[in-house]
Amino acid sequence: MTKLDIVTLPDPILRQKTRPVTRFDDELQTLIDNMIETMREANGVGLAAPQIGRSIQLTVIEALPKEDEEGNEIPDSRQLFVIVNPRITWVSREMVDGIEGCLSIPGYLGEVERHQAIRVRAQNRHGKKIKLKLNGWTARIFQHEIDHLQGILYIDKLTSPDNFWTEEAFQEIQEKMKEEEAIPNA
Ligand code: ZN
Repeated sequence: MTKLDIVTLPDPILRQKTRPVTRFDDELQTLIDNMIETMREANGVGLAAPQIGRSIQLTVIEALPKEDEEGNEIPDSRQLFVIVNPRITWVSREMVDGIEGCLSIPGYLGEVERHQAIRVRAQNRHGKKIKLKLNGWTARIFQHEIDHLQGILYIDKLTSPDNFWTEEAFQEIQEKMKEEEAIPNA
């Protein structure tokens, strides 16, 4: 497998609408395997084809592993999705705020409002039609990745222009909040 180069802003491919995948051939299978490896090496939870310089409707997603009560990783709790030609067919009215980053915007984080739950129709890596019901963190990752296929980035959807930070600034805010919370108990 080959690790692919990740495209970052301001590369214009990140702003292009992608075209559907029509051929589920060996070349596609190799590309998918390389995208999975690249996502894992970068500690990402999702990677869309434009992020490796291909303007096609393909994304790989791997939610973080679930943890038991003691915080240990539950074996085989990582769920890998290979999503081709996706379409969101339903969204919940309930919205949730959450913090997102993007491998194409390294070093930054921002707060984005997303649908709490969605339904998606897509094809798997062999072209078979699939239907998915997603919620919570997984639904958030899917919305982020499917946006990539439309040339949309999370920075277009910030809850406020102020809610965009460098990773360092965000960490400082988190620590300050912890300190402030700690005072009444001191
Ligand atoms: Zn992204």
